Amino acid sequence: MKINVDAGHGTNTAGKRTPPLPAAIDIDQDGKVDIKKGEQYREHYANVGVASLLVAELQRCGFEVVKTGFNDSNATDDPDTALTDRQRVIAKSNCDYSISIHFNAYGDGNSFNSAQGVGIYIHDKYAGQSEKLAQTVLKHLAGGTKQTNRGVNKQALAMCNCNALDTKAAILVELAFMTNLHEATTMMANAAYWLESAQEIARGVCEYAGIKYVPEAYVPVAPITKTSPPQDIKWLQERLKVPVTGIFDQKTRIAILTYADSKGWDWSTTWGYTAGASTIKSLAK
Ligand SMILES: [Zn+2]
Repeated sequence: MKINVDAGHGTNTAGKRTPPLPAAIDIDQDGKVDIKKGEQYREHYANVGVASLLVAELQRCGFEVVKTGFNDSNATDDPDTALTDRQRVIAKSNCDYSISIHFNAYGDGNSFNSAQGVGIYIHDKYAGQSEKLAQTVLKHLAGGTKQTNRGVNKQALAMCNCNALDTKAAILVELAFMTNLHEATTMMANAAYWLESAQEIARGVCEYAGIKYVPEAYVPVAPITKTSPPQDIKWLQERLKVPVTGIFDQKTRIAILTYADSKGWDWSTTWGYTAGASTIKSLAK
């Protein structure tokens, strides 16, 4: 099954940004400021944030994915591809479905207001099977972060036109309002919300298409020792094929040594008391 993921607008599209933000924002919670106080955050950046995560989600679930409006997770170098050009790419690539990612706006764009919520657009004339797809995706989106559900609305939008796109269904998702201070700061400019949204959209698409959703596999982030969470020790034991107890026992330690030996690694610094980053990475494959 082939699906197109579209990221709305381009890096330098006029308008299409939040009003000036009243405080600095750390989008990915890495301790570094990503948006300075007084800056206006661009819609395309958030669209690409969600779209690139959605591509990974859908590929993991077995879809073949086509991209329009962006090429990778770097949102700072994308031209604003004309809608007719986006349509042509999708029609040419024989996609079954298309999903366009956007954030909504209301008012003059200079100040924040109370318009809010998540909603999906389908075409008013050339919707194909879009209504069912839209309802299913919206059900998953509305089940996540608490938001006003604006429902499925019909409008003659280029990225929803199943005739022009030659798709069975095409939806345009408006994830939150960039002109609503709460939604702009906690959703649009929040990498955790991007991931949640990508996962929910993927779950909706999978349910609609009758495909099993494959969640991202858990991989421990810190080196595993006897004081690690049982979840991480069990993860290690499963992969080393020793009894899964959640306790870092002698069998686990010997298995780490044996594994390191089989790879030709030097274990003389840890003596098997630690499964480090390279061991975790190798076992995760
Ligand atoms: Zn938009």
